[in-house]
Amino acid sequence: MSDKKANDTMEKLVSLCKRRGYVFPSSEIYGGLGSCWDYGPLGAELKRNIKTYWWDAMTNRRDDVEGLDAAILMHPQVWVTSGHVANFTDPLIDCKTCKGRFRADKLAECRCPIKPSKTPLECGGELTEARKFNLMFKTFMGPVEDETAVVYMRPETAQGIYVNFLNVKNSSRQKIPFGIAQIGKAFRNEITPGNFIFRTREFEQMEMQFFIHPSEDDKWFEYWREERWKWYQGLGIKMDKLRWHQHGKDELAHYAKAAFDIEYEYPFGWSELEGVHNRTDFDLGRHQEATKKDLRYFDERFTEKFVPYIIETSAGCDRTLLTVLVDGYDEIEVNGEQRVFLRLSPKIAPIKAAIFPLVKKDGMPEYANKVYNDLRRKFKVFYDESGAVGRRYARMDEAGCPYCITIDGDTLKDDTMTLRDRDTMQQSRLKVGEIIAFLDEKVNG
Ligand code: ATP
Repeated sequence: MSDKKANDTMEKLVSLCKRRGYVFPSSEIYGGLGSCWDYGPLGAELKRNIKTYWWDAMTNRRDDVEGLDAAILMHPQVWVTSGHVANFTDPLIDCKTCKGRFRADKLAECRCPIKPSKTPLECGGELTEARKFNLMFKTFMGPVEDETAVVYMRPETAQGIYVNFLNVKNSSRQKIPFGIAQIGKAFRNEITPGNFIFRTREFEQMEMQFFIHPSEDDKWFEYWREERWKWYQGLGIKMDKLRWHQHGKDELAHYAKAAFDIEYEYPFGWSELEGVHNRTDFDLGRHQEATKKDLRYFDERFTEKFVPYIIETSAGCDRTLLTVLVDGYDEIEVNGEQRVFLRLSPKIAPIKAAIFPLVKKDGMPEYANKVYNDLRRKFKVFYDESGAVGRRYARMDEAGCPYCITIDGDTLKDDTMTLRDRDTMQQSRLKVGEIIAFLDEKVNG
């Protein structure tokens, strides 16, 4: 996609998100805050649905993964042990001409602030040597603001899982192989955030760490790659827009045995959506060494004690949300009019169905309100009686709502109503009980 077309697509999406209440710039009435975003009524619902869909797949529908919700602030030594204090850095380059700051390894993706059509490599500005910039946000715990009071805002949720390995294993009585899953906020002082909610400084991760015997790592690595691929398939994402990227020797973290990213083809190019990593025994090994706590596991099958290997699946919640928005965005001509459709899967769509009385009289609003109250006990639904029914359909199509239900004159005679499908535009007449069963299948099936 050309730069201009990519920008247009992203601009249209950003404006749709604002218009329909998906995503707003943070602190907008103060002029916004760099790369921070707020999720509006529909965005908050969509995000919650994505998290529930992940949580169900990764914990509730399995016997071998337990959930966790660890604190954002952790003992500062955790980040020394994990290597983040020393090594969680990106190479930072300054431009002496425009004073812009860029990530040295992403210069081709950055834009010169003075000549936005050019990258810092092309604009002719004088660049400094790269220097290391640590991405962790620091703050102070307690009333004294000195070095001894420094704590970090976690840059990943994984460490909360590693330090709770024994707690979870002992309390849940799980046996290896088993996993721990967690969803939560992470913070990175990214040098060049951007592309809307793709790279932000505050974001949510959905991570799962699976603890295994070292001899079984290849098998479990392949297993989790397949599971995670299927998860995106289940979300209804166009599979030709997804691909695997294997980390080459130069990209692979020193402790990792293998790493694959799931990448999506965004308007701005193929980029990482999730990472699946074989982290070996590095994490528990390091925490064991630092704390002197025995983190080994005795496996009856192998009659030996060992530090477990870890297979990690690490997805971004905000990035998944951006992906389903990009993937679902569609513009087509309907009856000579250019119309926007947001084709979100019913499983995650913020509003599952909208209920309309055809007109505001003849008992239709009263009937429609009753249907609305019946449905809202089970699903997030929306009632709308304002304007022509065609305009109401168009508003819901753009908001990502998969079904519209219209109550008309016939409803009052035979209790059937029209169910209209956003994507096929097909209409069928059903009774309220049939609609509930239909929605249940589409949303939860
Ligand atoms: P990148 O190379 O894009 O900076 P990463 O390889 O550092 O990402 P991981 O540390 O593997 O990312 O994080 C796992 C997942 O968390 C990513 O695949 C992504 O979905 C999400 N993520 C990481 N950084 C950000 C960010 N700054 N904003 C939004 N999501 C992020």
